[in-house]
Amino acid sequence: MATGTVTEPFLDTVRARIPGLRVLTDATDREAYRRDETEYLPTGLPGAVALPTTTAEVAELVKVCAEHDIPIVPRGAGSGLSGGATGLEGALTIAFTAMDRILEIDVENLCVVTQPGVINATLKAAVAEHGLFYAPDPASFEMCSIGGNLGTNAGGLCCVKYGQTRDAVLSLEVVMADGAVIRTGGKNIKDVAGYSLTHLIVGSQGTLALITEATLRLRPAPAPRATLLAFFPTLESAGEGVAAIAAAGLSPVTLELMDRFTIRAVDDMHSLGLDRDAAAMLMIESDMPGAAADDELARGEAACTAAGATTTVRSRDVAEADLLRQARRAAHWALEKLGDVKMEDVGVPRSRVPDMLREIERIAAKHDVRIGTFGHAGDGNLHPDLVLERGDPRGAAITKAVQADLYQAAIDLGGTVTGEHGIGSARVAWLEAQRGPDAVRVMRAIKAALDPQGLLNPGRVLG
Ligand SMILES: Cc1cc2nc3c(=O)[nH]c(=O)nc-3n(C[C@H](O)[C@H](O)[C@H](O)COP(=O)(O)OP(=O)(O)OC[C@H]3O[C@@H](n4cnc5c(N)ncnc54)[C@H](O)[C@@H]3O)c2cc1C
Repeated sequence: MATGTVTEPFLDTVRARIPGLRVLTDATDREAYRRDETEYLPTGLPGAVALPTTTAEVAELVKVCAEHDIPIVPRGAGSGLSGGATGLEGALTIAFTAMDRILEIDVENLCVVTQPGVINATLKAAVAEHGLFYAPDPASFEMCSIGGNLGTNAGGLCCVKYGQTRDAVLSLEVVMADGAVIRTGGKNIKDVAGYSLTHLIVGSQGTLALITEATLRLRPAPAPRATLLAFFPTLESAGEGVAAIAAAGLSPVTLELMDRFTIRAVDDMHSLGLDRDAAAMLMIESDMPGAAADDELARGEAACTAAGATTTVRSRDVAEADLLRQARRAAHWALEKLGDVKMEDVGVPRSRVPDMLREIERIAAKHDVRIGTFGHAGDGNLHPDLVLERGDPRGAAITKAVQADLYQAAIDLGGTVTGEHGIGSARVAWLEAQRGPDAVRVMRAIKAALDPQGLLNPGRVLG
C-alpha cells in the first residue's frame, strides 16, 4: 500500500510536468475534501487536491504519484454514503469536478460520451433535449456526478425497470495505476472481446482505475410518469404488496417504500397530505404510454389492495407526480431534521422484503432506537436510517451495534450489506462475511495485479 504524503518536491514536480493544472494546497480548501455524506466516519485531510481537466493530466498525475509513492483518492461530487471518497491524511485527492464536459450526444447510436465530472441531472437534461433518456436515477441525481455513479455502480429509483448504472455503460476510458490509458469497449451494443473490464471497473470505487470518460447508453424518452400511492396498515402488508406486484408480472418504473416515521417526516417537510397513520406507503410509477400506464397502475392498485392496502391515491397530473417523486427523494433530508442520521443500504431478494422489514422493527426495538425505513423496495433495497437524538452519548457504540444487526439480518436472508452505496471504508469489516474468504482472495489478486503499489484509493473496499 502506498504510504507517501504530499511534499513540496512532489508539488514542484507536478507543476513542472503538468503546467496549468489547478492544485489546491491551502488547508481551508483541502478541508472541503475531507468528507463525503458519511460525516460520522474517521477521515484524513488530503495533502493536496488536484482538479484535472483532461485525461492526459490524470495520467501524468498518476505517474508522478507512483514515482513518489503517494496514494490517490478519486472523488466526484462527494455525495457518497460509504466513505469511498473521503480524504486520506496527506494523500492526493483527484477531484473530477472540472472534467465536466459532455463530449458527444450520438442520436443515431443512442449513446452519450461524457467526462466523469458531469452531474447526473445535467446529463439527463442535455440528452432530453434530443428526445432521449439516461435511465440511472439516484435520489441524489441533482448533486452526484457520473464518475461517482460509475465508481459506486449507483442505483436509484428506476433500477427496478432499467437496471443499475452498470447496465447503462457501453464503454469506459480509464487511467490505470501505471498511468496507461485504456478503453474498455466502444459504442457497440454487443461486444464480447476478452474479459469485461467495464463490468470489473464499474462499482470498484476507484480502487482499480480512474475513470476519465464514459460512453453511456440512452433510450428514447418514455412517457411522463403517472403515480399511484398505496397506504398499508402494517409494514409487513406493504412488503406483501411489493411481492404481489412482482408476482403479477408488473414492471413499474418505480416501486418505492416509506415507513410511518418517514411518511410523517416527509409530510412535515412538504405538507403533502399523506396518510400519517399508515404504517407504510408504496409509491408506484408507470412510464408506459397512454392507456397502458392506466392499466399498469390499475393492476398495481389491485395487487396492493389484495395485500391489504387501506387507501390508494393516483396523481392527477404530471406536476403532482413530480412533486411526489421529489418528496421521496428528500426522505433522507426530512429525517435529518429529526436528529443525527446514519443511512444504511441493505438489500434482500425481493420476496424477502417483508422479512427484512420485520427484522428492522425488531432491531429498532432491541436497541431502543428510532429507525426510519424507506427505499427501493422493488429491488429489495432498503435504507433503514438510524435517527439518534443529537448528541446522544451512545452515538458511535449504538450505531455500530445497529449496523451489525442489520448487516447480519440481511446476510441471513440471502441479501447484501450494501445494495448500491458500496463497501467504501464504511463496510470493509463486512466484506468477507458477505462474500466469503475465497471470493475476497480473488478480489485481492485482481487488485494486486492491477495496482501492485496500492496507489488507488487504498484501504477502501478490501481494507
Ligand atoms: C440524499 C442522498 C440520496 C442518495 N440516493 C442514492 C440512490 O438513490 N442511489 C445510489 O446509488 N446512491 C445514492 N446516494 C449516494 C451517492 O449519491 C451515490 O453513491 C453517488 O453515485 C456518488 O456520486 P458522487 O459523484 O458524489 O461520488 P463520490 O461520493 O465523490 O465518490 C463515490 C465513489 O466513486 C469513486 N469515484 C468518483 N469518481 C471517480 C472516477 N472518476 N473514477 C473512479 N472512481 C471514482 C470515489 O473514489 C468513491 O469511492 C445518495 C446520497 C445522498 C446524500
